[in-house]
Amino acid sequence: MGKGKPRAVEKGVLGQNLSLLSSSSSGSSSSGSLHVPSAPVYYPNEEEFKDPLEYIYKIRPEAEAYGICKIVPPNNWKPPFALNLENFSFPTKTQAIHQLQVRPASCDSKTFELEYNRFLEEHCGKKLKRRVIFEGDELDLCKLFNGVKRFGGYDKVVKEKKWGEVSRFVRSGRKITECAKHVLCQLYQEHLYDYEEYYNRLNKGVAKGCKRKVRECKKSDCRMEFSRSKRRCKNSDGEKVKVCNKVEEEEEHDQICEQCRSGLHGEVMLLCDRCNKGWHIYCLSPPLKQVPPGNWYCFECLNSDKDTFGFVPGKHFTVEAFRRLADRAKRRWFGSGSTSRVQMEKKFWEIVEGSAGDVEVMYGSDLDTSVYGSGFPRANDQRPESVEANLWDEYCGSPWNLNNLPKLKGSMLQAVHHNITGVMVPWLYVGMLFSSFCWHFEDHCFYSMNYLHWGEPKCWYSVPGSEAGAFEKVMRSSLPDLFDAQPDLLFQLVTMLNPSVLQDNRVPVYTVLQEPGNFVITFPRSYHGGFNFGLNCAEAVNFAPADWLPHGGFGAELYKTYLKTAVLSHEELLCVVAKGDCDSKASPHIKKEMLRIYTKEKSWRERIWRSGIIKSSPMPMRKCPEYVGTEEDPACIICKQYLYLSAVVCSCRPSAFVCLEHWERICECKPRRRCLLYRHTLAELSDLVFTSDSNRFEERSPSNNLRRQISCSNESNVLTKKVKEGHVSLAELAEQWLSRANKFFHHPYLGDACATLLKEAEQFLWAGPEMDPVRDMVKRLNAAQKWAGGIRDCLLKVQNWSSGHSCDLERVPLEYIAELLNYDPMPCNEPGHLILKERAEEAWRLAQEIDSALSSCSEISMLESLYSRFCDLPIYVKESKKLSKKIASAKIWIDCAKKCISETQSAAVDIDILHKLKSEISELQIQLPETELLLDLVRKAESCQSQCKEILKAPFSLKNVEVLLQEFKKFYC
Ligand SMILES: [Zn+2]
Ligand SMILES: [Zn+2]
Ligand SMILES: [Zn+2]
Ligand SMILES: [Zn+2]
Repeated sequence: MGKGKPRAVEKGVLGQNLSLLSSSSSGSSSSGSLHVPSAPVYYPNEEEFKDPLEYIYKIRPEAEAYGICKIVPPNNWKPPFALNLENFSFPTKTQAIHQLQVRPASCDSKTFELEYNRFLEEHCGKKLKRRVIFEGDELDLCKLFNGVKRFGGYDKVVKEKKWGEVSRFVRSGRKITECAKHVLCQLYQEHLYDYEEYYNRLNKGVAKGCKRKVRECKKSDCRMEFSRSKRRCKNSDGEKVKVCNKVEEEEEHDQICEQCRSGLHGEVMLLCDRCNKGWHIYCLSPPLKQVPPGNWYCFECLNSDKDTFGFVPGKHFTVEAFRRLADRAKRRWFGSGSTSRVQMEKKFWEIVEGSAGDVEVMYGSDLDTSVYGSGFPRANDQRPESVEANLWDEYCGSPWNLNNLPKLKGSMLQAVHHNITGVMVPWLYVGMLFSSFCWHFEDHCFYSMNYLHWGEPKCWYSVPGSEAGAFEKVMRSSLPDLFDAQPDLLFQLVTMLNPSVLQDNRVPVYTVLQEPGNFVITFPRSYHGGFNFGLNCAEAVNFAPADWLPHGGFGAELYKTYLKTAVLSHEELLCVVAKGDCDSKASPHIKKEMLRIYTKEKSWRERIWRSGIIKSSPMPMRKCPEYVGTEEDPACIICKQYLYLSAVVCSCRPSAFVCLEHWERICECKPRRRCLLYRHTLAELSDLVFTSDSNRFEERSPSNNLRRQISCSNESNVLTKKVKEGHVSLAELAEQWLSRANKFFHHPYLGDACATLLKEAEQFLWAGPEMDPVRDMVKRLNAAQKWAGGIRDCLLKVQNWSSGHSCDLERVPLEYIAELLNYDPMPCNEPGHLILKERAEEAWRLAQEIDSALSSCSEISMLESLYSRFCDLPIYVKESKKLSKKIASAKIWIDCAKKCISETQSAAVDIDILHKLKSEISELQIQLPETELLLDLVRKAESCQSQCKEILKAPFSLKNVEVLLQEFKKFYC
């Protein structure tokens, strides 16, 4: 690391507090003392502390190897606690600490009994007649069997003298005497030893058989294997035959799978040998590769609900009430004097390992801060009076405020718009002594950041992400009974295991003691767990810088394997991020993950094509493609994963969707009925790989490598499939199609042929850039289809109108036809366009004539004749509107003018009306016989008017008036 090297503190100086974890001198507990080395602690200065993601990026090369680290902020970084403790209340969960590790598997003893009796009948020819009694009570053989299984089987239990531990399993809380241990051992040998052997043989058979069968499957038809499994069901003992007859009856109607609700693929439908419900072997979590030997019981029958261990929702507490509870608990364990943390930690593991009695505690965990409030200031929250306004504002915006962390620049979660509790929105935790967070890693393998607001410290343990597989192996082998009953146990977050067991198996474990004001970071896929030393309050959120991406990809695969609904679609997140701008630090990570997704998607799409699915269709566009919006997508009916990139559907079940990996599972139809749906073509996806490469503009940059990588993966294995004549490649088919499409354009347009070509093109369109010529051709075909369709539609309307001549039919507007005819070049050869052109020319001429008639002063008869021509025309010309308006106005004018001219009574017409008519006719610009008559009338009226004025001006003479009146008479005769 360079100058900006964060100062990791000497590992040993983690405060005397933690020396407890590294010192073993005082250790004498049954489980052995803890020698857990400390994870690194960092003390960034103010400058280094400015940007959390930047700082974590810097410490990662060192810290990630521990899976966890602690960050102590600079002294002046002290956010006020934003919640009002007086009125803050929260729900709790009850945790049975003594059962986190030492608990019987949540087995249904009835299922055990059933299977055990079947074993006795088949292999020993007898039935368990009477109950087995142990110290006066009936012995639970199921618990005894699982107890011995937990400690490695009979031989190991005897050798390692674990009968005491076993008896704690069988009947917790009772005193264990030497005699009891001995009796238990005897009873086991008598009743269960043979069964254990049989059980182990069966399980070994699974492992061996699995390999053999996979190999066979490659060679021959898999169905052989499956049909054998069905026989297994029918040839068993009497009871089962009865059961199976019933099943067969039902099978004709419906034996549906409890997971995917489909009754198809009966050859891999596994029937529970107790409840007879069915599951496809691929619909189990995790899926089975083959039908298991022996009897099979579903997980519902293996785990009766009442026994399933978990944290039970408990009471609602105020902080004050919870404090009293926490204080009481602490006094009960350690009195009122001070106790070293070494002591407390040791006590915790004693309880977990079952040697310190029953302990139940309350934990206010996973409190949604959008409901219960955050311990950090938030802009829209009520500020407590005790906090200064500027302090509040300062910490509202701090990047270390966990409310801000997921959305910081450089965080992949910026692309997520909706608030996902615990991921985008922090969770709050109110803990008490021994309240625990069990071994787990984060959803989607995210990073997590945890801040301790106040109270007693939190003790953390972690296993680096690189050792996750080793960790799981130890968990499985240490708790075999639990994992047999619940293969997805690690998803449940309810199981603890002493770190010393991990260490004994050479799995590295580290510890951190988090004090108030400290941040703890967990790295992707690092398993972590821990407990609280007393009353405290912490807050945590997930985050995801670009280097998280490959881990996110791993997490997504895990959800798929265990058929669990993911929090979001990893592929969508990646595509959204790749489309946005990213910095040089992020881009290599995005590019790499994008390339992985691209390659995987490509190979699946190719398999789909090879298997005969040739229909394809793009998925509908996203409303907001710049954000992750998974809720719009359907999920695979088998693995429950969101279908963002692609899906397969079938016409037989339109509402069902499957992912490409489960394409065969949707139904039993012929592939031709199925259809590939895709969000992006492979060409677009490969563009996204390049977009995410920030160096793409530089010459000789790694992007050239990338291009080579992609083109290599395109060329190296030519995509072919079997046909009758041998093999054919997708590229050859595309070539053939292109030449057919080319020919299509040399002939007069045929609608059916065009539609067929477009349908055929579907099998190429999902693919890579090599199909661009096909895409261009499809564009041309679409244009041709639209154009030719338009021409034909117009022609039909013109013809219908001409023959029917009905006023109800609407005529095609000339502009629309002109638009079609103006295409240059024409999209295809549609002969109809010539006829349409002829008709259009006629309309065009009329339109021009109307235009010139309207712009010059024409006679009304001419306008009328034009209008009647328009009425006979099958095409609508918009000029006709003006024409008819003008004709109508002229008619009104004529009526009015005629009235004036023919008026015989003196002074019946007002001169203003005459003036109005005069101006109207000049505006109308039309030649009418009445025009002259009216103008004449106006002239006369005006001359009369002026004479009257003259007379009225001059000295009044009767003679003049008489002359005038004479003239008026003439005027009106
Ligand atoms: Zn199923
Ligand atoms: Zn069952
Ligand atoms: Zn699926
Ligand atoms: Zn189908």
